[in-house]
Amino acid sequence: MFDKKNSDKVMDFCNKHDVKLSTSYDPRGRFNKGQLEIFLENVETFKDYIRNVSIVTTSQNVQTIIKSNDKSTFDYLYKNFPVDFDAYMPSPLIKTDSKLIPKDSELLAFNKYLIDNYPECENMDAFHDPLNQTGAMMCTRGNSITIQPDGSSPGGCCGVAYQRDKKTGETPFETGDMVEKFLKKYNCFECEYYENCPFTCFVKADMPGDHNDMEECVFKETFNYVKKTKGFKPKRDGEDDLSYGFRQKVKML
Ligand code: SF4
Ligand code: SF4
Repeated sequence: MFDKKNSDKVMDFCNKHDVKLSTSYDPRGRFNKGQLEIFLENVETFKDYIRNVSIVTTSQNVQTIIKSNDKSTFDYLYKNFPVDFDAYMPSPLIKTDSKLIPKDSELLAFNKYLIDNYPECENMDAFHDPLNQTGAMMCTRGNSITIQPDGSSPGGCCGVAYQRDKKTGETPFETGDMVEKFLKKYNCFECEYYENCPFTCFVKADMPGDHNDMEECVFKETFNYVKKTKGFKPKRDGEDDLSYGFRQKVKML
């Protein structure tokens, strides 16, 4: 837990450099009761500085959020901060990690659950509020920097290791044909939701495995669900620069 002296130091730093904090929550694997109390105390201490709470969509987290009878911590976070869910990228160093990848059908069920119960989660914006999204792919892991207690900073997410091992390009950050493969597979350029689509983590989508268990794309099915249940109207009609959204999206990779 942060004592007063150290928390003041962090707040001074944030004030001086106009920095906001991102914290992550894991409803399943991270905290015992005592650790959860410390986490919540820290969150309260830094409440005014926290920009968002990010949660990784492991299969276990998804199931816990849907099925748990006690959602008090998640409800508290949702009520007080923007909450966002990032794609889960398994570490190449831990073989069992791939078991944490949710199936696409599981992700679709989760998206529907969020739309019905927690629609203000930031990763749901694009699906139900075409006026309130940037047309850009979202991933808090690619947009934040982690600083360890010793001052070091880990070099990006596991997606970089996947690209490096698979040699998708001359440098680990080159996506090679991954994006094109995805767009062709789901025929994105013909999709009525193209301009609104937040897309996926293309690195995760490229990973082989039995998590790819749907013919149709998760995002399209989520848009269809919102259209059917809430009357979503795609932004594409009348849009004069159809390439804008996509340029914003690929800029993130
Ligand atoms: S590869 Fe990029 S988009 Fe995918 S999880 Fe990592 S940072 Fe996010
Ligand atoms: S909804 Fe699916 S098919 Fe449509 S643009 Fe998005 S990813 Fe492509």
